Amino acid sequence: MSHEGIRIGTKESQESELALPRIAITPEKVRVMLTEGKGVEIDWVDGHRSAWGFAWLREACPCATCIDERTKEGRKPGQPKAKSAALLPMYTPPAKPASAQPVGRYALQFTWQDGHSSGIYSWDYLRRNCQCRECTFAAAETTGAPN
Ligand SMILES: [Zn+2]
Ligand SMILES: [Zn+2]
Repeated sequence: MSHEGIRIGTKESQESELALPRIAITPEKVRVMLTEGKGVEIDWVDGHRSAWGFAWLREACPCATCIDERTKEGRKPGQPKAKSAALLPMYTPPAKPASAQPVGRYALQFTWQDGHSSGIYSWDYLRRNCQCRECTFAAAETTGAPN
């Protein structure tokens, strides 16, 4: 379920998901490497550094439409659409946002080059899906997923 209207400072914990400590979802520094087309890096107050590539972020769009699409296809956030094995691999340029803007103090929003912009990437969502080596390694250990 998506949390529409996440509020910083609410006392109620979010449903069944274990709440992350505040310092784990408070960014100290946010770098959006737009011109380089690389991705986003966040230094959190708890000392962890997270990184996400734009291609991953595009496929992990947390808007209702994209979540719906991924659920139907059984894809995890960041997992690209399955390509038909019968087709020759075609080069598709990696996703890149045309712009990025902060949403209040709790999220980032991208306007992708394909015009899509409804995804709100909350700090909580990003931290839960940290793509640094350490975290992806830990995730692969539990799910057996490559990379
Ligand atoms: Zn979306
Ligand atoms: Zn990490």
